[in-house]
Formats: sequence, C-alpha cells, structure tokens
Amino acid sequence: KTEINPKNDEMSERHFGSVILLKNITKYHELDAAKTNFMSIISHELKTPISAIRMSIKLLKDKRIGDMNHEQNDLLKNIDDDTQRLLKITSEMLDLTQLESGNIQLNIHEVNAQDIVDYAINTVKFSAQQKGIDFKVQLNNNLPKVKADVEKTAWVLTNFLSNAVRYSPEKSTIDVCVKPGYDAIEFSVTDVGKGIEEKYQKRLFEKYFQVPSNTSEKGGTGLGLAISKEFIEAQQGSIYVKSEIGTGSTFGFLLPVK
Ligand code: ADP
Repeated sequence: KTEINPKNDEMSERHFGSVILLKNITKYHELDAAKTNFMSIISHELKTPISAIRMSIKLLKDKRIGDMNHEQNDLLKNIDDDTQRLLKITSEMLDLTQLESGNIQLNIHEVNAQDIVDYAINTVKFSAQQKGIDFKVQLNNNLPKVKADVEKTAWVLTNFLSNAVRYSPEKSTIDVCVKPGYDAIEFSVTDVGKGIEEKYQKRLFEKYFQVPSNTSEKGGTGLGLAISKEFIEAQQGSIYVKSEIGTGSTFGFLLPVK
C-alpha cells in the first residue's frame, strides 16, 4: 500500500479494493461461461432421447400397436404431458445458452402484427379451451408494419399468453392488445390472475426466477421471460410488466417501427 501512494493511505486503499473486485468478476464470468457450455451440451444430448420417446408415444396413441384400456390411456397421457414439458425445458435451455454465447441470429422482415397475434393465439388455443378461457383481441386498424424477427417475436407473445393461461382463473378473459406509438408498436397481454407482488416484478426477467407463491404446483423453468427479454432487446425493443395483487398482470413489449 505505502509503495503505491505513501502520502495518501486512504486513496491507495480504495485502489487496492477495486483490483480484488475485478478478479472476482473474471472468475464469475469464467464460471458462468462453463455453466452455459455445460447446459448447452446437456440440452443437445437430451433432445435425441426425448424425440425417441415422443415417437414411441405417438405409435401407442395411434393404436398401431393395438388398443389400450382406460387406465393405460390415462398413463400414456401423463407420459405425453411430461415429455412435452421436458422438451419445452430442454429447448428453453438451448435457446438461452445460444443467446448467452452470443449466437443469436436475427431474421428481420416486414410483418403484420396480426400474423404474430394469430400465430401465438393458435399455439395456446387448446390449453385455453381446457380452462374455458377466452381471448379478446384489440388490434388498431391502421397499424404500421413491424420490422421484426417473426419467429422470435411470436415466441415471446406465445410465452406471455401461455403464462397468462397458466396463471388465470378458469372461464376468464385474456386481453391481447396491439397499438401504435410514436416510433414503436406495442404488444400487450393482460390477465385477471392473482397478480405479482411488486418486490418480485423486477426479478421476473432474471434467469430461473419464479415467484415462490405462484409457481409451486405449476412447474415451469423460470426461463421463458429471461429469453423473452433477450429476444426483444436484440431487436432494439423493450419489455415490461405491470401487475397488481388481486387484479392481474400485463406483460408487454415495444418494437421500433423505423
Ligand atoms: P416459467 O413460467 O417457466 O416459470 P417464466 O420466465 O415464463 O418461467 O415466468 C417466471 C415466473 O413469473 C413464473 O414462474 C411465475 O411465477 C411468474 N409469472 C409469469 N407470468 C405470470 C402471470 N401472467 N401471472 C402471474 N405470475 C406470472
């Protein structure tokens, strides 16, 4: 210490402190990169056996192997549901590892907002029907075309919608709204679910974060919103949540139109 700055002990101590901090961050980044690499390998490796399991399930479902009794059918449905969940988890892990290693490739085209909304609603239609949930879509008439990566944008909207379905009460309505702003177009999804406490709202877009009281019995990975944030920010957009306990939640994003 005295060698660096013998006259000002306070200054030299501050400088010394910052060196220790940088060392720690480097170590953290190394660990994080190793974890990302490991996750990428694992999720790649899991995809093949999961696809094989799904193939066998399909053969059983199509009754090509013969008829099954009621109990066997119920069991098969459970296996099918869990396998789909496993597939969702592995592909989310893979998406995230690709994002983290900087491998995100954008495919930007001019698209209609309506097409993105239709695609997303179609994807969650079946699980919404099972809970008697309706969608109310509000699309402004003269919306400008969006310059966006259709697949990634539709993925984000689908993730908002599937969360909304998951956390909404039965027979409720989910509002989907698209409106133009000054230099952006805004997509939002509003549910009348139990809402999210303010202290958790800031953390929703972190990897693996799940609201403890909302999630216990619902499964999930806590990765969907983290991936959504990356997909939207990669397109120079912004993502947000507004929520109130007892009233519901709105998840939305803005994409630039110019
Ligand atoms: P997952 O749904 O797989 O857990 P997400 O990143 O999509 O991962 O969501 C993170 C957490 O945010 C969820 O586990 C849940 O606790 C909370 N959440 C997301 N959407 C809603 C919603 N519409 N209403 C209430 N909680 C929500």
